[in-house]
Parts: sequence; C-alpha cells; structure tokens
Amino acid sequence: MEDCLFCKIIKGEIPSNKVYEDEEILAFNDINPAAPIHILVIPKKHIASLADMKKDDEIIVGKIYGVINKIAKEQGFKENGYRVIVNCGKDAGQEVMHLHFHLLAGEKFGDKIV
Ligand code: AMP
Ligand code: ZN
Repeated sequence: MEDCLFCKIIKGEIPSNKVYEDEEILAFNDINPAAPIHILVIPKKHIASLADMKKDDEIIVGKIYGVINKIAKEQGFKENGYRVIVNCGKDAGQEVMHLHFHLLAGEKFGDKIV
C-alpha cells in the first residue's frame, strides 16, 4: 500500500527503531510510548485491520503472538508480564490502518486501559 505509514516503515522509507524482523513480521518502538516499553508488532503483509483479516491471515497472527513472546523473553519482561492491545476501527481509536499489535510492558497497569 503506497500511502500506508507502516508499509513505508517496512520498506525503510520512514525510519524506525527495529526490535525484531523476519520475512513476515516487523517489530519497532512506538514513537509515542504509552508505557516504559511500547513496541508495535506488525505483519509485513498489508492487512488494514483485525476486521479485514482473511482466513489465511490467521497463520500470521499466530506467528505474531510467538514473536511477542520471543521479544518478552529476550527483553526480560516475560516474568513480570505484559499487555497486548489491538485497536480495530474508529470506536477503538485505530489511527494507522495497517494491523498492529501494541506490546506494552515495564510497569504495573492495573485497571488502566491503554
Ligand atoms: P493505533 O491508535 O492503534 O492505530 O496506534 C498507532 C500507533 O502508531 C500509535 O501508538 C502511534 O504512536 C504509533 N506511531 C505513529 N507513527 C509512528 C512512527 N512513525 N513510528 C512508530 N510509531 C508510530
Ligand atoms: Zn500497510
């Protein structure tokens, strides 16, 4: 998608602080962190939102959760815990229309909804 911000990050046209990358998945630090650790994990395939997932996309979503656990282990917050959020559509406040998983860690969230 030519005008998609995250597709531009994937292509390297917009810089990002990469945390993880493989053939199908990219993870990078959120530019406006809502927690001490705030990483966005995205499929390299352009999927606009969770609601736009096709049946085959279930495989990549499963892999994304695997990458999230790998990052949690590598960055040392697996024990303390972490929160994963996906905003889908306007009522959820999704701003970037490229499926992304917010990975938040580094503090106790309690009832706070990010
Ligand atoms: P959402 O509201 O769920 O669509 O989340 C979009 C997220 O993308 C927000 O947390 C933004 O801070 C983040 N964001 C926007 N532009 C960039 C960028 N260039 N690099 C990293 N994160 C970004
Ligand atoms: Zn995109």
